[in-house]
Amino acid sequence: MWIFLDIDGVLVPDTMYERTDLPPFDPADPPFEPACRDRFETVLRHHRSALVVIASSWREIFPLSAICDRFSPDIARRVVGQTPFLAATDAANVNYLRHREVEAFLAGLGVPKAPWVAIDDIADHFRPGAPVILTDGNVGFDDRAAAALDQALYAV
Ligand SMILES: [Mg+2]
Repeated sequence: MWIFLDIDGVLVPDTMYERTDLPPFDPADPPFEPACRDRFETVLRHHRSALVVIASSWREIFPLSAICDRFSPDIARRVVGQTPFLAATDAANVNYLRHREVEAFLAGLGVPKAPWVAIDDIADHFRPGAPVILTDGNVGFDDRAAAALDQALYAV
């Protein structure tokens, strides 16, 4: 099972920048929110065959290694890549761009029908009916999202 992971609004809630209970951090280089990250990692440790692909705008800014460094080492080893960049040159093909990038990633590996789930705070990145676990961008990966991911991974 492939997990296509967004970061902003998932592991970095939009409200994290105003929090005073976290150690100070550089807003241009934020850490993952600890509770969101721990919830995500706990689910992954129960599903050892699931692999993670970064499907976030972070891949335009940070090298994959810098993203992996934010996970615990056992989980970082399971972050195996990032989705390709597809051109969004006009309004017609910007629709569902992230969904198409997921499909391009799987097609590139020769497994276009492989089961997958995406975690994202924006439904419009994916076609209706896509296997997406939606988060509230202000909250990030909460207990409800963790339960949904756990269930999605058991279903395979
Ligand atoms: Mg997002």
